[in-house]
Amino acid sequence: MNRRDELEANLAVVRGRIAAACAAAGRSVADVDLTVVTKYFGAADVRLLADLGISDVGENKHQEASAKSAECADLHLRWHFIGSIQSNKAAAVAGYADVVESVDRLKLVPALSRGAVETDRIVECLVQVSLDPSSAPGRGGARAEEIDLLADAIADAEGLRLSGVMAVAPLGEPAGPAFEHLAAIAAALQADHPGARVISAGMSGDLEEAVKYGATHVRIGSSVLGPRPSIQ
Ligand SMILES: *Cc1c(COP(=O)(O)O)cnc(C)c1O
Repeated sequence: MNRRDELEANLAVVRGRIAAACAAAGRSVADVDLTVVTKYFGAADVRLLADLGISDVGENKHQEASAKSAECADLHLRWHFIGSIQSNKAAAVAGYADVVESVDRLKLVPALSRGAVETDRIVECLVQVSLDPSSAPGRGGARAEEIDLLADAIADAEGLRLSGVMAVAPLGEPAGPAFEHLAAIAAALQADHPGARVISAGMSGDLEEAVKYGATHVRIGSSVLGPRPSIQ
């Protein structure tokens, strides 16, 4: 099978899983958007995905994302930055990302704002929420008590738009209860910020649980592109 056919077949499987999860949850498939995570895969795959109708792609490393988005500028894709952001790279990330999903600390906000303003763009931001137990070592994500301040800072920043929340399921614990908790956090945030409607949750292994608990965006990598090289 050539690569295009392989990606097309994988996409059909993923879309089928999303549709089944939506049906089970009594939700419309139109309410769940697919972001294909292209990290570790090259611009050639991004081109094939665009050709197969994908509009949103996700990357988690600044250097790789910066180069790939420049190489694919003609495709008019929406680039989602989903990885941890070094403070000194935040302005640069906001220079090409359309959506920054991993805003997890206040320090990033002025830099993201500067990057958006300098490039004359509005950059959508999601507050990345930690779903890990408080005893777990940090894997990124704001703690419950930090979310409101962070959301307010994003909402007030020039060039940024607060669009919602993002989270990764906790390690070694069931995803369902964690995503249910995320839905409650998202609802509380939306009460203060009505435009913050995005819940980005669900990866290849847990998209069904995420859709069940209200995810509006799923981020799927390996189920579309295949296993990533083991050096990560
Ligand atoms: C890599 C990654 C994904 C995609 O994971 P898969 O298991 O390959 O689908 C989603 N979200 C984040 C934050 C990631 O880093």
